[in-house]
Amino acid sequence: MKNSGLFIEFVRDAFNTKEFIPLHEPRFTGNEKKYVLETIDSTFVSSVGAFVDQFEEMIKTVSDTKKGVALVNGTAALQVALRLAGVNKGDEVITQALTFVATANAINYNQASPVFLDVDLDTMGLSPSSVEAFLDEHAELREDGCYNKKTGNRISACVPMHTFGFPVHMDELLKVCSKWNVPIVEDAAESIGSKYKNKPTGSFGKLSVFSFNGNKIVTAGGGGAIVTNDIQLGDFAKYLTTTAKKPHKFEYFHDEVGYNYRMPNLNASLICAQLEQLDDFIAKKRALANRYDEFFKEEAINFRTELPDTYANYWLMCVQLNNLEERNQFLEETNGKGIMTRPIWKLMYKLPMYSHCFRDDQKNAEFLEDRIVNIPSSVIN
Ligand SMILES: *Cc1c(COP(=O)(O)O)cnc(C)c1O
Repeated sequence: MKNSGLFIEFVRDAFNTKEFIPLHEPRFTGNEKKYVLETIDSTFVSSVGAFVDQFEEMIKTVSDTKKGVALVNGTAALQVALRLAGVNKGDEVITQALTFVATANAINYNQASPVFLDVDLDTMGLSPSSVEAFLDEHAELREDGCYNKKTGNRISACVPMHTFGFPVHMDELLKVCSKWNVPIVEDAAESIGSKYKNKPTGSFGKLSVFSFNGNKIVTAGGGGAIVTNDIQLGDFAKYLTTTAKKPHKFEYFHDEVGYNYRMPNLNASLICAQLEQLDDFIAKKRALANRYDEFFKEEAINFRTELPDTYANYWLMCVQLNNLEERNQFLEETNGKGIMTRPIWKLMYKLPMYSHCFRDDQKNAEFLEDRIVNIPSSVIN
């Protein structure tokens, strides 16, 4: 950007402050205090309580699914969702290299290997044509699923991630994954409230996950959820993440190695108050996105906006600069002036623990890695 001074001025004006401006700040202007205090007064602060039940109803509604399970964070949700989708030790799981590290870690926790395929330039999320090319070349359908005929490993899931709340091309991805019998687990951690052809992200996968970390649009402090239309699978997710305990009046009997991944009621009370405001938050973020869009058009800079047929929550807004040098200069100048900006993630195969994993040419991911910068995106009035 030729003149980041103008941008800095614009952001200071939009957020109406001379102080440090973070990338994304939580906002507690609804029933947060009321519900948290109610929870403390009730003494039900831990993993059983009315707000956990209420949250599980709310997340079902927001994602238009049949079952929601409250969990301790998004990473744990993804770990368990993958296990329930059928991911086993030694399997391969298709995902994108342009993502937050939690996506790859959750695959790794299941002792499976990520297969990193390229993203689309327009969505910044997993490219259906990259998936199709990979499967056409490497896959073979057997009675019990899809196998990589070169490695002999099962390809047991595909994890698209809706980058910054922009939905991936779901129709095309569903088509190729169903052809090859590979279940989709959506990493919708960043895209709560986003829609693809009028259907919420999180409603497309066999299972899908959300995150309610402090930097997401709505937060539980820390928290996550699994949603699914398969009620049996959803019930099993609840069971497995509640130490796999068989219901009984007083006996402790567990028939599997489960997890203690439950969301405490204290956190659920916060997220319930936050979810009540989700539509309002998204409306305000979309208004800010519009202002950014107009500003950057004047500057001839590519501010990323939603694609036709999609509705984005604009969790983290971003610009696409012309090259790495321009990106670095913009990061230096803005951060130096107390405006927080951050580059998009380093690609997963550039991290030591994933450097050995399979990847395709990654042309688009590498292009975006050098150019995409997140800019302040908090909800403002
Ligand atoms: C935030 C995030 C997660 C993980 O969520 P936590 O709740 O922080 O564990 C997973 N995947 C993506 C893409 C995320 O942005």
